[in-house]
Amino acid sequence: MRLRLAFMTATRTPGMPVVEDGFLVSTSPATGAEAGRVPISDEKAVQAAVDRARTAGAWWAGLGFDARRTRLLQWRALLAQRIEELAALTHAETGKPPADAIVEATAAIEHIDWAARNAKRVLGPRRMRTRLLVAEHSGHLEYQPYGVIGVIGPWNYPILTPLGPISGALAAGNAVVLKPSEYTPAVGQWLADTFAEIVPEQPVLQAVHGLGDVGAALCRAGVGKIAFTGSTATAKKVMATCAETLTPVLLEAGGKDALIVDADADVDAAAEAAVWGSMTNAGQTCIGIERVYAVAPVYDAFVAAVVEKAGKLRIGEEIGPITMPSQIDIIRRHIDDALAGGGRALLGGADAVQPPHVSPTVLVDVPEDSAAIREETFGPTVTITKVADTDEAVTRANALPYGLGGAVFGKANGIRIARRLHTGMVAVNSTLSFVGMATLPFGGVGDSGFGRIHGEDGLREFGRAKSITVRRAPSLLPAMTFERTPAQVQRIVKAVKLLYGRRP
Ligand code: NDP
Repeated sequence: MRLRLAFMTATRTPGMPVVEDGFLVSTSPATGAEAGRVPISDEKAVQAAVDRARTAGAWWAGLGFDARRTRLLQWRALLAQRIEELAALTHAETGKPPADAIVEATAAIEHIDWAARNAKRVLGPRRMRTRLLVAEHSGHLEYQPYGVIGVIGPWNYPILTPLGPISGALAAGNAVVLKPSEYTPAVGQWLADTFAEIVPEQPVLQAVHGLGDVGAALCRAGVGKIAFTGSTATAKKVMATCAETLTPVLLEAGGKDALIVDADADVDAAAEAAVWGSMTNAGQTCIGIERVYAVAPVYDAFVAAVVEKAGKLRIGEEIGPITMPSQIDIIRRHIDDALAGGGRALLGGADAVQPPHVSPTVLVDVPEDSAAIREETFGPTVTITKVADTDEAVTRANALPYGLGGAVFGKANGIRIARRLHTGMVAVNSTLSFVGMATLPFGGVGDSGFGRIHGEDGLREFGRAKSITVRRAPSLLPAMTFERTPAQVQRIVKAVKLLYGRRP
């Protein structure tokens, strides 16, 4: 199955995927032009894909770390060579500015490179240190692949979000069946097609397409693990479906990330980062900055700088359309709710929503119980709240059930404040930077999910720890046998007291 590209052929409701003659057709949210069409998979087709993947996974695992590394680095090279093509397709399908698509693809390529180069070190067989009481055995650890990993992805970062788990899963020796969002099937299929150019022997990376029911079918198809990225509501459904078969899950869900600006922050740099963090990809970013808590001494200067910088962003240039049409109503509701509760729009506001675009919107004096503060807003909006000190900022930042990422600007206490945020990641004196650092694990806490992609923890998600002991001598303290004698048990008692009986 290969992607059929059909740029600029038919015009439909911009952004709304449609089903036509068994095909899923995705369209540009900006123009309505068709971006690509892929065949829809029914439950049987999903099962068949997983069955094929099982055989492919066994073959892929059998290649070993070194051969997989070579193939993955070849794929990385292909993606780097064809990065403009991938960015153009992503632009056509999501409306995201091509420059943003390039940045997204660059981070994904970095993760493939790191996973390929480090899988053997992190997951390969190694000797473990033994302990005195079991010194007659040597210990061995390795991480064995699950076989098939099901990856379910969202539409907002259709390259980077699936490639995080895919790079870890493939490097660990698994086959992957990807279910991309119905809004971005073409990008998902492109990834599978290009991988098949490098690995033509077996369908090691496949894509299956359709709506949510196809994702649910993938959860039920007997995969070794599901790596899901999407909303918290769907994450709960995925976990419930996977519970039927005790299929393990990794859940990367939504967020409502906060940025804290301390008194000794570089205010201009903080404002630049706040605008980028909240408005890149038109604010449709799981780790996007949605709330800012600025301490009183720098509040006015910070707000002025944010309004000035955000006011320069142009619709259709830096700010693309809202990819998923139904998000428009949510953004409008959040802005309206903020204003109705006494908030003020210093930029944008009620008129900012002009489908398919939303203009940059900066809100202040927004009540903490407002939807704009409490619920995920997938638009180029940001709230800024004045706080007395960073203690208050941390308390407010931690008040939501979400806990994905966050940011702190400040010199003396940046890292200390970062540690106190209940999130999986924090950037100090920047925003979002942790997602591009391949050595760092990525994932959230609370309603933002659990499990990690990227880095060593991300690799270990895709291998089962396998522990092996090998006897190398007879036991001096034979504990695990019915043939032990009372004298030997006494020797064990003596040894335990000697080794562990002394108070530190
Ligand atoms: P959704 O939760 O709506 O969908 C995510 C994926 O799940 C889609 O492929 C969707 O298919 C599929 N799906 C829907 N229903 C089911 C089901 N019952 N069983 C299995 N799969 C199902 O999220 P969005 O696509 O709207 O993505 C936006 C969300 O993703 C935001 O909340 C954002 O914060 C979050 N996100 C989190 C990231 C992270 O790393 N933590 C990164 C990026 C985004 P279909 O599209 O066909 O309905």
